[in-house]
Amino acid sequence: MAASETHLHERLRALARNLWWTWHPEVISIFTDLDPRVWREVEHNPTAFLNRVTPEQIEKQASELVLESRINYAFRRLGEYTGTEKTWGSLHGGNLNNRPVAYFSAEFGLHESLPIYSGGLGILAGDHLKSSSDLGIPLIGIGLLYRQGYFCQRLNKDGWQEEAYIDLKIEDLPLQAVTDAHGSPLMIRVDTRTTPLLARVWKLLVGRVTLLLLDTNVDGNSVEDRELTSRLYGGDLRQRIRQELMLGVGGARTLQALNIVPGVFHLNEGHSSFAILEEIRRVMEYDGIPFDRALRRVSLYTVFTTHTPVEAGHDRFPADLIEEHLGIFREHLGLSHDEFMALGRINPQDHSQPFCMTVLALKGSHRANGVSAIHGHVSRMMWQSLWPERRESEVPIGHITNGVHVLSWLAPAMFQLFKTRLGQDWPTRMIHPDLWEKVVEIDDGEIWETHQALKMRLIRFVRRRLVCQSERLGQQETIAQLESILDPDILTIGCARRFAAYKRSDLILSQPERLLKLINDAERPIQLVFAGKAHPRDNEGKALMQRIARFSYEASNRLRVVFVEDYDYNVARHLVQGVDVWLNNPRRPLEACGTSGEKVVLNGVLNLSVLDGWWNEAYDGRTGFAIGHGGMHNDVAVQNRRDADYLYETLENEVIPLYYQRDPHGVPSQWVRRMKHAIMRLGWRFNADRMVKDYAERFYLPAAGATSTET
Ligand SMILES: *Cc1c(COP(=O)(O)O)cnc(C)c1O
Repeated sequence: MAASETHLHERLRALARNLWWTWHPEVISIFTDLDPRVWREVEHNPTAFLNRVTPEQIEKQASELVLESRINYAFRRLGEYTGTEKTWGSLHGGNLNNRPVAYFSAEFGLHESLPIYSGGLGILAGDHLKSSSDLGIPLIGIGLLYRQGYFCQRLNKDGWQEEAYIDLKIEDLPLQAVTDAHGSPLMIRVDTRTTPLLARVWKLLVGRVTLLLLDTNVDGNSVEDRELTSRLYGGDLRQRIRQELMLGVGGARTLQALNIVPGVFHLNEGHSSFAILEEIRRVMEYDGIPFDRALRRVSLYTVFTTHTPVEAGHDRFPADLIEEHLGIFREHLGLSHDEFMALGRINPQDHSQPFCMTVLALKGSHRANGVSAIHGHVSRMMWQSLWPERRESEVPIGHITNGVHVLSWLAPAMFQLFKTRLGQDWPTRMIHPDLWEKVVEIDDGEIWETHQALKMRLIRFVRRRLVCQSERLGQQETIAQLESILDPDILTIGCARRFAAYKRSDLILSQPERLLKLINDAERPIQLVFAGKAHPRDNEGKALMQRIARFSYEASNRLRVVFVEDYDYNVARHLVQGVDVWLNNPRRPLEACGTSGEKVVLNGVLNLSVLDGWWNEAYDGRTGFAIGHGGMHNDVAVQNRRDADYLYETLENEVIPLYYQRDPHGVPSQWVRRMKHAIMRLGWRFNADRMVKDYAERFYLPAAGATSTET
């Protein structure tokens, strides 16, 4: 018995060590079944779970619940997954199989138990890793280990956001310390004109892919620098440049220390642009060539993805901070202060311009892209002044539209439905349009019932969350009415967004009487579920959130309008699987992509969105609903008013009637037809396998080819 005890426990440990489990519901269900209460308490974190449950307890539970074969099966599947040599990457990966892609990102959203992301950028990076793993594309992620994550969100009685910071417990995470040749922790050092920066490195397994995370909380750093990687986007500009120095330069040095020579540098957003400079320095030293030639060469295998059409989203640093942090570096590169600053200036002659990380990334990469067709266009407009001799259409920024990692976002019940109808191996064929044609054959009642069950699951989740929220705020009335909050038979609209002004989460509240009429309609009411965080320093975003929170606290709205605190991977997963409609109404054209809308498609949820970002490519009249016709206006107030009218009109004339039009069995057949149409038309395109393959074919392979011919 002793042997099998350790056996099972060790196998579960092995499963917990690789984030592969995060997209395999059959592994997650093992932990849920072992102890649902502990699983919830540890916030779905298997490492923490195993730290709290003894091998004896596991053995006892496993034998009582007959879990042994499921554990062994999952363990074998993981081995097969990581061991297989038949992947898309091994067949088509060419040079990458000797020289991997180094994928730099300031955040990675992989799961709620690893809160090193703040929003869309991080989720995208996490999905990129997972699909690279599934496709077998040789890729290494490089990021920072934030010990306090972004922040935990609490709303006070007045609906105002308050932030709490909780330290992660390293021993509760599946991190492995990276060591040097002597077995001591590998230390990465970056000198500045003031204090040097040190970091240690952690390794995390994401299927077949490795993610390296730098952590400045080490002896030898000043107290202040130990905190450098505590939080995402927390500090002032000086802290920010030090973080980015560690991410870019420290990240590139980590690869060198591990003898990894990447065939491609992919910079996910400008935060990591300094990596280009470190690679140039390495090439100059290694090949003895001058700066200009090294820059040209490095740019041939550097790929840059820009993510925001909002000006303030691009990091800019003043000359003194640049000199303090990169002065030593600049001397190594043999550049004067002005020559160096010119790398981050749109107009090198203009000495008043700060150093822009996006400009450095664009100057240092041969291939650059936005994340949707519209965003590609907007980015060419935004950065045209870098290529004054070219027309806007010739600015070398293309686009690859984002996609989502399907198995991470798809409800297990939907997964099963597709498995029965599309075949056991459907996930490996998801980028083929033909696969999805069979969706028409799915019985309306079956898909609708599955959806309704998921909605009920969401409602139970929201109620559980509301209990905690209401107890804290002393909102006894909410607890008393709990079982009546949200009704599965009412059209349920989800709106979860970062609370940034341009996302306009409060647009639906702009004509309160009109909204209240919809909510309280006797025959065809609607209900709303909100979630989202505002940046701790964004008071405008917080005020916007407050309007919504207060609206939801009002006694007359309580049953049909809720705000779920602490939007994260877990909240997002429940929402995208369980609402009827996913609402998205940013101010066009400021939503670069808006990937959350892609998460709902295969779950059978319909999008109701402004024609911005991905939705402009996805909407065909029947894949969901459009708000307006893609118009814009210079006067923000006018655009807001117009879009609000379009929103109400679409709800009143299209969404609500279609939802409540039922067949004799109570199934909204026209609605279900749209659900299926969206799955068929959009499923194969807006997933991360398609996205990563696009990156591989259009960027990685040609870029890696450039490395081998040049060097
Ligand atoms: C998907 C996701 C986002 C990104 O959503 P957008 O559509 O880009 O606004 C942000 N936060 C979380 C937690 C997510 O899951």
